[in-house]
Formats: sequence, structure tokens, C-alpha cells
Amino acid sequence: MASNQLQKIIKAKIWKFFGGIKPKEMKDTSDCKIEDLGLPSIICIPIDRHLGKDGEILVNVGDHVKKGQPLTRASGRLVPVHASTSGTINAISKEVLPHPSGYTGLCITIKPDGNDESVDLEPMKDWELKSSRELLERIHNYGVEGLGGAQFQTDFKIKSALEDSKTGCNVLIINGAECEPVITCDDRIMQEQASDIALGIKIIKKILNPKITIVAIEDNKPHAISAMQSACDGIADIRVIPTKYPSGAARNLIKIITGIEIPYSVHTSECGIVVNNVGTVLSVKEAVVDGIPVISRVVTVAGQSMKKTGNVRVRLGTSVRFVLSNCHLYPEFHQRIILGGPMMGFTLPTIDVPITKSANCILAPTVNEIPLLRQQSNCIRCGRCARVCPSRLVPYQMYNQSKAKNHAACLKAGIRDCTLCGACAYVCPSYIPLTSQFRYEQAVEMHIRDAERRNQIAKQRMQQKEERLKAEALERQAKKEAALARIKAQKEAEANMTPEELAVARAKALEEAKAKARERKEAILAQKQQQAKAGVDDASNIKRLKDNQDKAIAIAKHQGHIEKPAAVSEIPENTIEQQVANAQLEEKKILPQALKKGATVRLEELTVTYHEAAKTETAEPKLVGLPPDDRLHNPEPKKVIPSVLMSAQEDKKEVNILPDIFRKKNITFKKII
Ligand code: SF4
Ligand code: SF4
Repeated sequence: MASNQLQKIIKAKIWKFFGGIKPKEMKDTSDCKIEDLGLPSIICIPIDRHLGKDGEILVNVGDHVKKGQPLTRASGRLVPVHASTSGTINAISKEVLPHPSGYTGLCITIKPDGNDESVDLEPMKDWELKSSRELLERIHNYGVEGLGGAQFQTDFKIKSALEDSKTGCNVLIINGAECEPVITCDDRIMQEQASDIALGIKIIKKILNPKITIVAIEDNKPHAISAMQSACDGIADIRVIPTKYPSGAARNLIKIITGIEIPYSVHTSECGIVVNNVGTVLSVKEAVVDGIPVISRVVTVAGQSMKKTGNVRVRLGTSVRFVLSNCHLYPEFHQRIILGGPMMGFTLPTIDVPITKSANCILAPTVNEIPLLRQQSNCIRCGRCARVCPSRLVPYQMYNQSKAKNHAACLKAGIRDCTLCGACAYVCPSYIPLTSQFRYEQAVEMHIRDAERRNQIAKQRMQQKEERLKAEALERQAKKEAALARIKAQKEAEANMTPEELAVARAKALEEAKAKARERKEAILAQKQQQAKAGVDDASNIKRLKDNQDKAIAIAKHQGHIEKPAAVSEIPENTIEQQVANAQLEEKKILPQALKKGATVRLEELTVTYHEAAKTETAEPKLVGLPPDDRLHNPEPKKVIPSVLMSAQEDKKEVNILPDIFRKKNITFKKII
């Protein structure tokens, strides 16, 4: 960041962001003190997360847990979840999650015992002496994630700013804007816990060492502004910003505070700017100084269908039903319950969903307060949606592309940059549900991305397999060439030997070969015993089968039975070969009979020469083996599949070179005409 830009920021210059709207504020609950809602009868804590895989579960059904006890292990970026009260684990099962689609995810259900007994807290009183690594570890292990809505791992965000930015952290912004109408939970915690937030800011500052720290608060929160001004004296600058929706979105807030417009393809931390919500900062303080993990959050309860509105502290995992019944919901016909604010929230498919870290508001509006969806009409190309979009998108175009299922065009139009702020839908005179469509499109886009990733992995595996097979073929070729060279050298050496010397040398070679065979046999036996002990799974069986088949093919090749495969298209139609080739697709067992008629057959990419047996008319024709020197008596080789070859060799009792799996094979025959 240029130093003159930094000077402008220090001088409290305020910039404007593109687009935005000014909806009715409806922040009546701003004066309502935070109340503790108490213990529900059941707690259901989701452990499915949108980033990475589920954490490793540390508890079992029937276990007794205490408040603050970790239920999952932290893995990678994923933070652990903690029990929000003491009780017994009732179930670990899939439950409905707070999502517009009503999809299910893995949850741990706790039956509270009513004692609310906590684990021994481990406050980090000397946090000022701790290193950044220790503090970040603490933040991670105590489950601190963004409480502003995105639920992004706080430690990861801070770490990224330290690692990704070339200049370190320039600006630390504490987000107290709370721009969405109705919601006042951040406002209340700033009013009631300003000193705790200030301590949280100090901890983050110690890790990041930013050049400037700013707390951004919208000018419609005078009480919060004065509380924070007195608490953050000497810790952070309080920047009062104009009320405009969505100024609280991270990129918009960065634009307002620093004048920098960060493209959506770049992470904010790469520019040395970190934005943390005030609720998250409070959680950092509680995790580090008090040793309390994130087990509760403040939720705004609003709407004219509620008798009691205000801000309540709710244990994570409490059901929305419990909150509504404690705040005395008087439902009307077709009552809607919205999770989140009126702009970014969504109607819940059921009220039996748990409160999570990202749930900042429960809204139970009457039809008069927020009308039901009006009948949508056609787009009139008025362009209002594009004028208010802070991400500089063209919503009506994106909507049409999404409706036409043209996902590639939608992606190109910038669906990933949509923050689902709802400003476009708010101003649309045709009442087109733009935001809902974009939420759906983003889910589809994520699905496509996942599928592409999986395809990529499969492709890589295939490439690796091909490379491995190629390397194995080369290795085999090298071995073969070495063996031929050895034989040649041996023959040359034998040519100069006397008959006695030759006899001694051959006896010695025979002994060596026998010793080698014994060794190999013992090794195979030992391996078999080991496998029998460990229990051979299906995968290893398949591998063994393949290895054995490769081995058999190698033997066949060595004995000179393999020929170049004939393409099916090259086989003349209506011949016995064609019939066999066709029939092979359905029944391989007809092959021996076909072979008896002297047909040429094809199996996948491999065909082997077959030397016809003496013609005897039996119901089950007998197959014969193929000694390499048999060519002299059968000058016209015929083709045969490896399994037939194996069976033929079995008949000749050449079992010492054949794996068991082939020897045990039963081949039955079926006549073809
Ligand atoms: S919902 Fe998306 S498209 Fe609509 S205004 Fe917000 S960012 Fe723009
Ligand atoms: S605001 Fe509505 S009607 Fe106007 S261009 Fe956008 S989608 Fe069309």
C-alpha cells in the first residue's frame, strides 16, 4: 500500500463504494439488552461444514459431556466444535440444517442434564507473553470463526494476511457496520461489551502488528459509537461511516475505509487488509483471555409476529423453535420464519433447525411487515438492478443465463462475485426473485466445480496408471533382453567347453535354478500365510488376479504365442471369426468350440496363437498345451485367449508355472454353428 494512501486513511478520509441502497432501517431492538435464553431441552450441533471434510468425532452415543468439551478434533482448516452445555450424547445422525433447501448434515445431539457443568477453564492470563503461533493455535482450537455471516476460520484469515501479503498487515478493520436492516446484535455487544472487544482487538493486533487499526461503525448507532470510542482509546480509531446497504460486506467496507477496490479474484489478505466482525473479536478475547470456546452467540429476534423482540444470547445448537417459543411467537396463517435479516436472510423450510455461528437474526414478520412474494412480471430492462449492484454485475443478464441453464455464461458473467446481498431484488420493479436464483446458481456452480475437480483427479490417476504400465512394460522388456543376452553368453561359453565341463556347468545351473525356484516358492508361501492372517480384501484379490494374468500373458509371450491383435473391423463379416467376436461380448465360454473350428478370435487387445489339437468329436473338446517347439508340427498358428491357454497348460500338468487362480478355473463349453 502506497504511503500517501495510508496517510489519507490515517486522516480519516471516507470513500464511497459502487451501488448500494438505503432501505428502511427498522432497528427497534437496538435498545434491548442482551438476555440469556437459558437451556433448551435438546441441543443439536452440526459438524458438517462447507469447507473441508467433517472433523473427527471424539464422542460416542451415550457419553456424558461437559460444557466447553470439544466434540470434534480440529483437522486442517476446520475448527473443532464444542458442547454448549453438559449432558449426554443422544445421537450422532443426519439432521436438517439451516439452509433454504432444507438439506441434512451430520449433527451431534446432546440431551442437557440441567447442571450446565463446565470443563475446567484454562484462561491465558499471560497472553501478552505468548507468540503469534501460540495465540493462533488457541484461536483455532477454541472454535473461533467469523460470526458476521461467512463463518470463515479466523486464525486462517489472520495467518493468510501474514503469509500472503508482501508488506504484512497494513490495515486491520473491525467491522461494526451492521448494515442490514432489523439486525442489532453487533450494535448491542458494542454497547454492552466494548471493553472486551477492545481487548480482543489488542490480541489480534499483537498477532498482526498492523500499521493502522480502524473500527468501522455506521452512523445510525450513536450508543455503540460512544461506547467503543471510550473503550478503544489508544487501541483503534473509530471511523463513523454513512448508513448505506451493504456497507458491511468486507470488500465494500475496505473501499469505504481505504479507497481500495479489491477485485473478487484476489483475497483481501493478499492486499494486507484484514476485516473481522466485532462478534468475532469478542470470541477471540473469550477464547484467549477467559479460556471459553465459542458455544453461544447473540441473535436478534424481531418481527411483528413476536410478542417479545430483542437480542438474546443463545447456545449453539439450540433450535429455532425453542427461541420462537421463548419469545412468544403468535403465528399467523402462512407464517414465515426468516433466518438472517430481511435482505440476506432466507425462509426456513422448518423451525426445527439449530442455531449456528452464522445465525445473527430470526425474523418472524407479518404479511403487512414484509409482503409475501408478489407476482413477478417480465424484465423491462430498466437497469436498476445493475445500478445498485456493489459487485458491478449485470443481474438481469445473469438471471436469464441462469434460467436458461447456461452455467458457463453465468460463470463468465461473474456469479461467483455475487455476495447475495439482495440489493438487486430489492429495487426490481418486476419483483423478479434475482437473489434466490443466484443462490441456486452458486450452488450449481459449486457442484460443477466439485465434479471438475473429481474428474481432474480421475484423469491424473489414469495418467499415473498408464505411466506405471509403461514403466512395467519397459522393465519387462529390459529383463527379457538381459535374459536373452545371458542365454547367448552362456551358449557362447558352452561352445568352447569340453563335454565334461558342459555337464558340470549344466548341473550347477540346474542346482541354481532349483534353489531359486525353492526360494520363490517359500516367499509365495510366506506371503500367502501373511495374507491369510491379515485377511485379503477384494482390492488385493483383484490386484493379484491382474498380476497373475500379466504373468500368464508374459509366459505366453515368452513362449511365442502372442500375436498382434486384429481389429474387429478387419474381420470379414459372417465368418466364424466374426461370430466369435460378436458372441464374445455375451459369452466367453464358446471360445474353445470356436477354436476347434480353427477360428481367429480377439479378446480385448490380446490374442495368442493356438496350435490345434488332434480332432476328436466329443461333447467337451479337450484342449491341449502349447510347447514352444510345436510350431514345427503346426505351421499355421491359430489364436486363442489366455484363459484357454492356461487351461491347456493345466492339461499338460505344467502347473508349476501357473498361478492357482488359473488352475482352479472351470471352463465350460457351448456349441456354436
Ligand atoms: S445479490 Fe448479487 S447481483 Fe444482486 S446486487 Fe447483490 S451482489 Fe449484485
Ligand atoms: S431491475 Fe428488474 S426489471 Fe429492471 S432490469 Fe433488473 S431485472 Fe429487469
